[in-house]
Amino acid sequence: MKLIDSLLTDAAAIAAVRRDLHAHPELCFQEVRTADVVAQKLTEWGIPIHRGMGTTGVVGIVQGRDAGQCGRGVGLRADMDALPMQEFNQFAHASTHAGKMHACGHDGHTAMLLSAAQHLAKHRDFDGTVYLIFQPAEEGGGGAREMIKDGLFEKFPMEAVFGMHNWPGASVGTFAVSAGPVMASSNEFKITIRGKGCHAAMPHLGLDPVPVACQMVQAFQTIISRNKKPVDAGVISVTMIHAGEATNVVPDFCELQGTVRTFSIEVLDLIEKRMKEVAEHTCAAFEAQCEFEFVRNYPPTVNSAAEADFARQVMSDIVGADQVLAQEPTMGAEDFAYMLQAKPGAYCFISNGDGAHREMGHGAGPCTLHNPNYDFNDELIPLGGTYWVQLAKRWLNQPSQA
Ligand SMILES: [Zn+2]
Ligand SMILES: [Zn+2]
Repeated sequence: MKLIDSLLTDAAAIAAVRRDLHAHPELCFQEVRTADVVAQKLTEWGIPIHRGMGTTGVVGIVQGRDAGQCGRGVGLRADMDALPMQEFNQFAHASTHAGKMHACGHDGHTAMLLSAAQHLAKHRDFDGTVYLIFQPAEEGGGGAREMIKDGLFEKFPMEAVFGMHNWPGASVGTFAVSAGPVMASSNEFKITIRGKGCHAAMPHLGLDPVPVACQMVQAFQTIISRNKKPVDAGVISVTMIHAGEATNVVPDFCELQGTVRTFSIEVLDLIEKRMKEVAEHTCAAFEAQCEFEFVRNYPPTVNSAAEADFARQVMSDIVGADQVLAQEPTMGAEDFAYMLQAKPGAYCFISNGDGAHREMGHGAGPCTLHNPNYDFNDELIPLGGTYWVQLAKRWLNQPSQA
């Protein structure tokens, strides 16, 4: 691995910052202390900052040796928020906030970008500007969307934007990146079937919504198997069915809720349209009333081909081409998708190892994301930092793509 020496030297100090953030997790749009820590570090290193974008977002502006005169720019993004869950780990840097935990490693993402920031500010061996984007509320809040709404790309003109997430499992020193869709669109539905309650011994006097719901759940899966093209990916999961409170009462209504995931808006359009038709017509067939709500959350995360290839080359120079894996698409969702809708760029994975990095005191169980025994692997700080530095420098030192 070709790590930048100064990042190795500074890694322990940045790891201490990471552990401090881990001990003080903050939820969506409440990253006040976290943003303070980021702002204080950037300021200490002589990096001008812009605060309050998307509520608690921070943008650091690192100009190169030309003081940014060439007008070129590239964006590097880290997320800062934690999850509403209780940490099981017992180590010294475990969460001090009950019911909140950095179980997705956003403390580490923030640390890796800080590590790069310190180096870039010290050396400035590039022309143009590197924008360090510390965003709030990735875990469901759409912090990326809020920063864009607040003028992220107008105030800070950049040619491309890059994101990175740690990925538990593969050994440290491997990356994964691919062109095309890598994370899914995330969408929620709620369907209320209104029937007519009655005595369960005399169902003919009412209108039972439960068999209607059963038909509907089955029929939804035919949208996946019969309506969309077999080669297109799509998932419909009905995850909640609520009806009734007594064994001898036919309920008045039944509610179905769940999630839909797709890798393209076209497939999403088809699934939403067909679900509405199936829901309404199934209800009509049973003479029930139908209320259909469908909410689109994060769009699919789609890497542009040239930028994914660019990222792959940078990674290959650091860890060797055989350590840069193809990025297996996952049906999880990621709000960096909004940034990739606005700008070319690539979202990659950096392997977090198998969990052996965790110190004594971690609870039982694996080290998967969103697990109460998870911890970010501090070994990644100089590696992720090196990737960010080399990516930014190489981008700005290449001829303009514009
Ligand atoms: Zn997460
Ligand atoms: Zn995450």
